[in-house]
Amino acid sequence: MRCYCCSSKSFDECCEPFIKGDKHPSSAEQLMRSRFSAYATAHYQYILETYTKEKQQGLSVEDLAQSAQGATWFALKVHPTLAASSVDSLVGNSVSSTEDSSIDSTVHADAKVEAVTNAEPISKTNLKSISKPITKPITKPNNAIVEFTAYYFENKSMYQLHETSNFSVEDGKWRYHDGVLHDDCGKIKYGRNLPCVCGSNKKFKQCCATKSR
Ligand SMILES: [Zn+2]
Ligand SMILES: [Zn+2]
Repeated sequence: MRCYCCSSKSFDECCEPFIKGDKHPSSAEQLMRSRFSAYATAHYQYILETYTKEKQQGLSVEDLAQSAQGATWFALKVHPTLAASSVDSLVGNSVSSTEDSSIDSTVHADAKVEAVTNAEPISKTNLKSISKPITKPITKPNNAIVEFTAYYFENKSMYQLHETSNFSVEDGKWRYHDGVLHDDCGKIKYGRNLPCVCGSNKKFKQCCATKSR
């Protein structure tokens, strides 16, 4: 089945390995997506563990489960304004084996471009260093923001949660810190004949509207 986070991948190739702890998200966006999928599948332990240490204080699995009660999370839209950054370079090779290979290769491609751009006028030494695999860590930000809209049903009504979230890296792993809600949060009416919010290209009434309860 398609992943709960509405990516083009299946659940077991997208968010499930993160929720099960087999892999760690390599970007803030991946973490955000996996947290959405954890809400959709009621994995509150994962929600708790992926908060920053500061925010974990005073939270419990029971609190999280309680606050999510009654909501059926059914679709996620990630707003494309900000590219997610990767912790790959911060943690070196220690987690690269657990990372999504497509993301991994993007990071290395970027690193190469950066190295070429920063290069001194070409000399034999520079050529040598460019052609070699880059082992020197490249400084990447420890913080990232992701804007998204998550959709849920509650008491047969449809709601949206539109948030810009702050993420940071702790011990080499992306963590959710907090977020700012936008003014358009709340109950919404969505046309049954409109294309579904999940991006399936089906009409809403033939797609996610059937999950309303
Ligand atoms: Zn996913
Ligand atoms: Zn849908």
